[in-house]
Amino acid sequence: MNWLTKIITAAEKIKTAVRKRASKTEMAASKYMSCHGVPIEKKIIQQNNFICPECNFHHFISPSQRFSMMFGENNWKKINSPKVKDEDPYRWEDTKKYTDRLKEAKKITGQDNAILSCEAKINDIDVVVSAVNFKFIGGSISMNEGENVLAAVQTAIEKKCPYIFVSASGGMRMMTNMLSLMQMTRMTIAINELKKNNLPYIVVISNPTTGGLSASIVSTSDICIGEGGPNGGATYAFAGRRIVEATTKSDLPEDFQTVTWQKSKGQVDLVLDRKEIAPTIGTLLSILLKKHKSENIEENDSLVEKSLQKTKEAS
Ligand SMILES: [Zn+2]
Repeated sequence: MNWLTKIITAAEKIKTAVRKRASKTEMAASKYMSCHGVPIEKKIIQQNNFICPECNFHHFISPSQRFSMMFGENNWKKINSPKVKDEDPYRWEDTKKYTDRLKEAKKITGQDNAILSCEAKINDIDVVVSAVNFKFIGGSISMNEGENVLAAVQTAIEKKCPYIFVSASGGMRMMTNMLSLMQMTRMTIAINELKKNNLPYIVVISNPTTGGLSASIVSTSDICIGEGGPNGGATYAFAGRRIVEATTKSDLPEDFQTVTWQKSKGQVDLVLDRKEIAPTIGTLLSILLKKHKSENIEENDSLVEKSLQKTKEAS
């Protein structure tokens, strides 16, 4: 074999290797995935609440799947929220029209916006829960998402029950610009009203939580739980790792901006595996509400009315 034949053989091998790499569509259609380098049946992961039993990687879970896991199938009731009249006031278009992106996201997720909220029970305690679907335009927040959080918080105040927010977001939605950024203030005002009523506010940080959501209601929780997994668990950050690296010109630790790292800095209270989250919230709420019941909740009727009015005004 001369040098030319060797090069041709090597080139053929590279071509075959490149051809063999599966596309996104092929991966979605396949019965297998390979989070730890070895194929594993998707069914096995699904049956384990979308956690790989081999490497403990916490795969994507949609809000409805999460609610069914936390409360049991059909044991939760969806909260409807008002819809804005014009979802695309800037008539945004990049490589695609924003209206087309919205249509696609709605079709993929079966949701009308990135947040799904519900009423349910944990440990026989009424709770209101909102969860963000990362598959809906990267879990970004726009007007309808803001409305959904406001409706959920209003329900929690009316029912005098705790509010749980499960985050997963790339930040505020650029296609709706300032109207998206406004939601940070509106949602924070709503959470503030919840706090005035001495109602517990618990945040669960799932992967990834970044941008405006971590700069608003995620960082104002009473108790902050990070979803675990290998290599430090879920990402929890404001600006991304590469931006921080370029700005500070320093070497960052491997687990930088994971929930485990944030816990070591005091930004997260607990890091738990997905299956442990609901039972732990149940225990925490039992303790918190026992204390609150005797001191505050029963006496706060007038405060609740005032707060509801303010939340409505904010909307
Ligand atoms: Zn795995």
